[in-house]
Amino acid sequence: MRNQTVFKKVDQYTRIKEVKGLNIYPFYKELFSAIDTEVIITGHQKVLMLGSNSYTGLTTHPEVKEAAINAIRKYGTGCSGSRILNGTLDIHIELERALADFVGKEDVIIYPTGYSANVGVLSALMTRHDHFFMDDLNHASLIDGALLSRAHIHKYEHNNMESLKRLFEKHKDTENLIAVDGVFSMDGDIAKLPEIVNFAEKYNTVVVVDEAHAIGVIGKDGSGTASHFGLTDKIDIIMGTFSKSLASVGGFIASDATIIEFLKHWSRSLLFSASLPPACIASALAALEIIKENPTIRDSLWRNTRQMQDGLIAAGFNIGNSETPIIPIIIGPDEKAYIMTKLLLENGIFVNPVVSPAVPKNCSLIRISLMATHTETQIAYAIEKLTKTAQSLGII
Ligand code: PMP
Repeated sequence: MRNQTVFKKVDQYTRIKEVKGLNIYPFYKELFSAIDTEVIITGHQKVLMLGSNSYTGLTTHPEVKEAAINAIRKYGTGCSGSRILNGTLDIHIELERALADFVGKEDVIIYPTGYSANVGVLSALMTRHDHFFMDDLNHASLIDGALLSRAHIHKYEHNNMESLKRLFEKHKDTENLIAVDGVFSMDGDIAKLPEIVNFAEKYNTVVVVDEAHAIGVIGKDGSGTASHFGLTDKIDIIMGTFSKSLASVGGFIASDATIIEFLKHWSRSLLFSASLPPACIASALAALEIIKENPTIRDSLWRNTRQMQDGLIAAGFNIGNSETPIIPIIIGPDEKAYIMTKLLLENGIFVNPVVSPAVPKNCSLIRISLMATHTETQIAYAIEKLTKTAQSLGII
């Protein structure tokens, strides 16, 4: 029936069928409740959520929900157009000002998602004559933005400054840009910004930092990695998302006013996509205010992080170089990660398996993400179940 070569890859893609056949397929699980420390999932009652990026736990905060509801009452449900023509509300501008002030940059432009922010900024700024330096574990959106720009892409070994130095030395005479995750989304370690900035100054290179997993987590008032290292002025471009600590959806780029002005007229993922609906903007704005005014949220997040890290290390888990609420548990073969995920769910715990091609073959992991709103009891329960399950599979 379907014999075009274009579809050959579809027919040859049997991996998922095999995993489903073994009844260990862990993806696209349907949730029947809000994203909170406990969720209701198909075939289960409440399970403990250890796989959400809602680090601050604000997606269910009454003030955040109220802000979204009030915005819908005032502005309706959508903008039906792009920012440049008919989709800019006063609350878009209010949030942009608040974010610029928060991250310490002159101006901000909001994009429909964090993904489109990275794609939009990198593809607008770089040309095919230029060169990207990228950490090997950078997020896909940074890679896709670089690909779209048609510039040369050079990867350096993850967080390895010697490897990065070699790139700088090899490409001394070109226009270069280094883009890096501030907090790495899989391994939960932090970029070595002081060294990166030193190189960038020496070799006159633009620095872009993706703060997706750092906002609400590290830095002054939770404003990210640049602030954490006191290097905000040395970072040319800061990117962030609303889809994690800011309890909503959307992304932003913060930089000098002239760069933001340029992006507002040249960045295609901004210009050719509709602006964020009022509820998304209002909830991000409310979450931002709560984060700034409540340092106790970060205190709880870090207390929970320490409890989980200490418990896992004591039990004998290999958690790599995690320094943040993202904690990878190194598993090995993909099948084991799938089986571990399934057994954990049967024991009332939701985690994310990360398998190839997201990580190299036989380097699969289970990624745990903590929230400020997890309780000590929940984390103790998780450590006990993770330990028993891993022992039963010979992982520890
Ligand atoms: N950067 C990083 C490091 C991310 O982890 C993500 C999302 N997983 C994004 C960018 C994209 O953000 P969004 O979900 O807002 O599209």
